[in-house]
Amino acid sequence: MNTYRYLLMTVDPVHIGTGGTRLGRVDNSIVREPGTKLPKIPGTSLSGVIRSYAAYRYGKRRCAGQGQSRDGREGHCGRPTCPICYTFGAITGERSHAGVVSIGDARLLFFPVYSMAGPVWVTSPSALADFGIEGQKVDDDDDYKAKWSGITGDHKHLNLGWLMVEKGGDLSLNDLPSDIPDTIKGRIVLISNKLFSQVVNSNLEVRTSVAINPETGAAEEGALFTYEAIPRATFLWMDVVVDDYRGAFPTKQRLEGWRDTLQSSTESAETLLKEWRMWRKKDGEQALDDTRQKVLGWIDEDLRLYEERSMPQPGQGWRKQEQNQAREEGPADVVTAGLEWAEHLGVGGMGTRGFGRVRKIAHREVSL
Ligand SMILES: [Zn+2]
Repeated sequence: MNTYRYLLMTVDPVHIGTGGTRLGRVDNSIVREPGTKLPKIPGTSLSGVIRSYAAYRYGKRRCAGQGQSRDGREGHCGRPTCPICYTFGAITGERSHAGVVSIGDARLLFFPVYSMAGPVWVTSPSALADFGIEGQKVDDDDDYKAKWSGITGDHKHLNLGWLMVEKGGDLSLNDLPSDIPDTIKGRIVLISNKLFSQVVNSNLEVRTSVAINPETGAAEEGALFTYEAIPRATFLWMDVVVDDYRGAFPTKQRLEGWRDTLQSSTESAETLLKEWRMWRKKDGEQALDDTRQKVLGWIDEDLRLYEERSMPQPGQGWRKQEQNQAREEGPADVVTAGLEWAEHLGVGGMGTRGFGRVRKIAHREVSL
């Protein structure tokens, strides 16, 4: 198994709703982690959008979405030659197979708050440790202690929204991704885990909107509602676990290899199609030949799509030495390709209860 960690930044206020549950003065609250009450973007929502965007980007529209619906509409293509179905799994009329990636929740790392010294980004020892930066501490006995460096000059106090904290030491964070702008790196404030949850929850955006009547296109009377959102310029991270147990991602080279196999001899074509469970001996010669032609057609189609694609550079990491590592395209690149479009199209996707654009800042493979 391989784990890839993605660092994300919100470009808009991001709202992924819980489905209309009311929380205090807010009509539409966002999803939170059960223990800490910190907002998050659920992996299930992300997974749907990433699949859809990746499918469009790879030229595989029918492989976006949820697969075959109950009314019998066209499902995923489900072909072994399809990078989308290989990566995320497929549900077709006849069969379904599981994908090889699992997308985790996007969790908070740095959260922007207004202070007398301008915007600062708060974080906590737990938030940092979960992200992989261990050993950061702030006085637990006194909640109102904080650590920062160089934000306020000689001043020992800083307000985070309405809350005043006192400087309890200097902060030095190593191993931050180089892709985080220096202006932000120099404005990070470490506060206790408990205080972090408080500060975040009292500084979420609350916006007011008007419900639109879909038939008239006009605002519905008395239909003002409020919703919460994770503010712009919040940093989050998520893990994508790739369990490529099949080891048969349809790279360009593999597609060409399969084409050779199918064309070389009846025996080798039999072996491959049997392995894919697309042909059985008792189906006979004619069925073998038909299937062989059909699959050769798929391969040509997917090879053509490879020519047309402009894909993310493999191996973009946040450590310099990882950037030049050449490796084969795989499921993680399909995820990255989909995620990159969330910067333009948002994490709402079609038919989900959310909106807001999210930018991929960096990603790299991590060992757990
Ligand atoms: Zn497909």
